[in-house]
Amino acid sequence: MDKESTENLFSKEPRDCSRCHKTFSYAEVSQSCLYHPGPLYFKRDKLKGIREFRYACCCAVQDMKGCRFSNYHVWENSNPDYSEFVCTEKRLLEKQEGACRVFALDCEMCYTRKGSELARITILDEFENLVYDKLVLPAEEIIDYNTEFSGITSELLENVTVRIEDVQRELLEFIFSDTILVGHSLENDLLALKMCHELVIDTSILFPHPHGQPKKKSLKHLAEEILKKSIQNRGSFGHDSKEDALAAFQLVMHKLKEDLLEEKRKEIANKKKANAK
Ligand SMILES: [Zn+2]
Ligand SMILES: [Zn+2]
Repeated sequence: MDKESTENLFSKEPRDCSRCHKTFSYAEVSQSCLYHPGPLYFKRDKLKGIREFRYACCCAVQDMKGCRFSNYHVWENSNPDYSEFVCTEKRLLEKQEGACRVFALDCEMCYTRKGSELARITILDEFENLVYDKLVLPAEEIIDYNTEFSGITSELLENVTVRIEDVQRELLEFIFSDTILVGHSLENDLLALKMCHELVIDTSILFPHPHGQPKKKSLKHLAEEILKKSIQNRGSFGHDSKEDALAAFQLVMHKLKEDLLEEKRKEIANKKKANAK
């Protein structure tokens, strides 16, 4: 990236790198970014009698220098251009057959000169069938494919011509305001899609972190804990949006079944109580 195009990107306001958390100015975007890709977790060492936070990626203690290197700092779009957003609309009369539908959705993003941008979207229907799976070419030059998480590589996007506007147009053909969207931390997916939609079931809220918001359990953690299923195991190949969408959908189905069973149990217990009187 040349200096001029770098300067065009930035206001003079400094930004925070979403990976290494360093504050950087436009002149420093291509400084090396040393970061930890793994989250911090709490570790209790009974032998030494100490409790500390460590990084899941390399087991380093908190505040230790990053174990991964990138040529650029990266950032999320905290100030998106809402004029580019679309909103799901009321179902048209001729498309009214069939009840409102449920879809599980997951997006993968790359870091570009504009922050984080959509690079893949996957949608499954309520029967777990793949109904939409597209690679998307971001509008701006990619500075980091974020492959470890996104699973996106330069080879994958090589011949892709689909743009976010194409995706938005196609989604509005089958996602309406009464469609239920299922996913994990869906606000990130909807921001990447530049789409407004109100009816969602978000597994990061359905299964809250014991310490409350803003802490969230990861999808990987929830899949292991609740579905007894191991996901996101492709290492440096990154996440698979189909696997993630499926896990989110199965988590919701699991919760619904549990809640129904609980209702039944209560009903039976109440009946027994009434009969005993
Ligand atoms: Zn690390
Ligand atoms: Zn950084």
